[in-house]
Amino acid sequence: MRFIDAHCHLADPRVESQLEPMLARARAVGVNEFVQAGVDPEDWRRQRALAARYGGMHLVFGLHPWWVVGASDAEAESALCELAPQLVDAVALGETGLDFQPRFSAETWPRQEALFRAQLSMARARELPVVLHVVRAHDRALQILRDDGLSPRGGLVHAFTASREIAERYLALGLTLSVGGRLVARRSTKLERAVAAVPPQRLVIESDAPDQPPPRLRGQLNEPATIVEVAAVVAEITCSTAEAVLRQSAINLRRLLALDRGAG
Ligand SMILES: [Zn+2]
Repeated sequence: MRFIDAHCHLADPRVESQLEPMLARARAVGVNEFVQAGVDPEDWRRQRALAARYGGMHLVFGLHPWWVVGASDAEAESALCELAPQLVDAVALGETGLDFQPRFSAETWPRQEALFRAQLSMARARELPVVLHVVRAHDRALQILRDDGLSPRGGLVHAFTASREIAERYLALGLTLSVGGRLVARRSTKLERAVAAVPPQRLVIESDAPDQPPPRLRGQLNEPATIVEVAAVVAEITCSTAEAVLRQSAINLRRLLALDRGAG
């Protein structure tokens, strides 16, 4: 079985010393492919080094809203220029999106929106799917997606934790929802109701490793093997099995990201 982690950051420096055992534990439960998520230019370089060394690493490059918030105008502009040629062998563009949680002041919003729109435009021009990071900004992100338009290949809403109503608005735009460790905590009936309403063909399973660990790994690094635990919760909510959920997620990712088309 070749299961796929729909979203992780294995090129993150925190992972380096633990990568080999982490990959071994992933393989032991059938997780052999890893969709990376890009954060900033340094991270893209580390992703390339990782993919040169290990099989099954799918490249995704983008400028994460958290990076955008801390960058100067000149840095943001030069990173955007650098992003375009990187996309040649990427399976998607991301993470891009909006993060309006209170620790990022409203002053950062226009900058976040400008970089989000610029990246959406790049994805449209290259017909690449997008990987979206949206926190406390769903109405605004949905409005921008509607106004500007998505690439015809759609994309993923990563770490989805919102309501059924929000889920349905993303689905109506043709997006696929990706769920992870938050679900394992079983603390949000709102999220569980949303997951129950998503057609299986439009749902994928992610770890977001090394972030968002399930409760049993609190305070430790998260890892791709935990997608089995996420899938078990999805299976319970949707009357399925963890294996069937992971198999369908892999089918969805292969189609959405055209994983069989090139190297990777
Ligand atoms: Zn991420």
